Amino acid sequence: MAFESLTEKLQNVFKKLRSKGRLTEEDVKIALKEVKMALLEADVNFKVVKQFTKSVQERAVGQDVMNGLNPGQMVIKIVNDELVSLMGSETTELPLKQGNEITVLMMAGLQGAGKTTTVAKLAGKLKSKGKRPLLVACDVYRPAAITQLQVNGEKQGVEVFSMGDKQNPVDIAKAAIEHAKANQQNVVLLDTAGRLHVDENMMQELADIKANIQVDATLLIVDAMTGQDAVNVAKTFVDKVGIDGVILTKMDGDTRGGAALSIKAVTGKPILYVGMGEKLSDLEQFYPERMASRILGMGDVMSLIEKAEAALDQDQAAEMQKKLKKMDFDFNDYLTSMEQMNKMGGIGSILNMLPGIGNKAKDLEDMIDEKALDRTKAIILSMTPAERTNPGILNVSRKNRIARGAGVDIAEVNRLVKQFEQSKKLMKQMPGMMGGKMGKRGGF
Ligand code: GDP
Repeated sequence: MAFESLTEKLQNVFKKLRSKGRLTEEDVKIALKEVKMALLEADVNFKVVKQFTKSVQERAVGQDVMNGLNPGQMVIKIVNDELVSLMGSETTELPLKQGNEITVLMMAGLQGAGKTTTVAKLAGKLKSKGKRPLLVACDVYRPAAITQLQVNGEKQGVEVFSMGDKQNPVDIAKAAIEHAKANQQNVVLLDTAGRLHVDENMMQELADIKANIQVDATLLIVDAMTGQDAVNVAKTFVDKVGIDGVILTKMDGDTRGGAALSIKAVTGKPILYVGMGEKLSDLEQFYPERMASRILGMGDVMSLIEKAEAALDQDQAAEMQKKLKKMDFDFNDYLTSMEQMNKMGGIGSILNMLPGIGNKAKDLEDMIDEKALDRTKAIILSMTPAERTNPGILNVSRKNRIARGAGVDIAEVNRLVKQFEQSKKLMKQMPGMMGGKMGKRGGF
């Protein structure tokens, strides 16, 4: 996860500050020097770091902070505010038009940045918001890219418009818009060709599309793991093609976070979304405030709640709550909750957002055996509907059959059944818990 070591370093700086009752100017100076080092090591653009520490310093040595009751806390607040402002303060939304009017979004970026994956992720997000997206294969140089888009589009249940690799991208885009009009699709997402490096032809192609078609927003996809290179690529695109915003991919693999912290300040263009994994659901809207909170190790409970809401079907959630209250949940419910956790991006991504866990998430995640979860699922799927709703009927011969079906040892089936009974018992011992705070969304 991004920012691991930055978070750790900043937390150390703040720990020292908090342990002091009053702060001298010297204390603040030393702390800021450490913050500066931490940011530079996180690969944040050096000009950005300089400006950042200057702003914090100016605000922190003001009278109010030094004489306040808890100066350490105040400095942390200032760092937090400045981080938020560095990343653009406000969340930037896509310029989506209302009703049937078509919004055209053009995706640009270097090969391998994650463009084809991201455009499909975005299409899925738009679809879940009630939009009717159309994916368009404008990358005519790599037939494999067209196939990849088709595969991803199918997974998302979104149509992919393609004219093969013999037409030029402007004609394809024009035809796609006509197709969208005829089929009541209201967001057209153009997947354009990338190159290994910034190159004139690629820029020209994008410029041609923009000159011939009303593009509502050009989004640049950059790979967070390439750090300052990503920032430089973004700067070139801003200068040569003109972009409206950035989607930063592979944040899940970026331990430093320099690109996320520098892009807005260097290019003036906001980050709209971040890619957090290879799965098509791993795209998150970018909220500067929440990101700052994660960087400072304060967790991101808001995103967690939203993930839970997106994964949980309202009716399913209400049904589950009712069952939990009545203590009559069965293996079907067990399976549903496992699937919901998967939809939320698995245990790792949930741990990451919890306050206080921050950089320990990886250790915890390593302790959880994801394969064991898969085996549990296989066991439940090998049960008959009657066995799932009424686990009491599971005798030895049934358990043997289930074990064979799931390809596991019978001991594992026994363990699961026992575990299930224990959790049921445990819940019975906690009356009121499920009907009280825990059952509601505030339970997180
Ligand atoms: P393109 O050449 O820009 O179209 O890139 P692709 O969409 O083919 O992606 C290149 C590789 O990056 C693929 O293996 C993707 O699965 C992977 N990828 C894309 N986005 C993410 C992300 O947010 N996280 C991770 N871990 N991998 C990603």
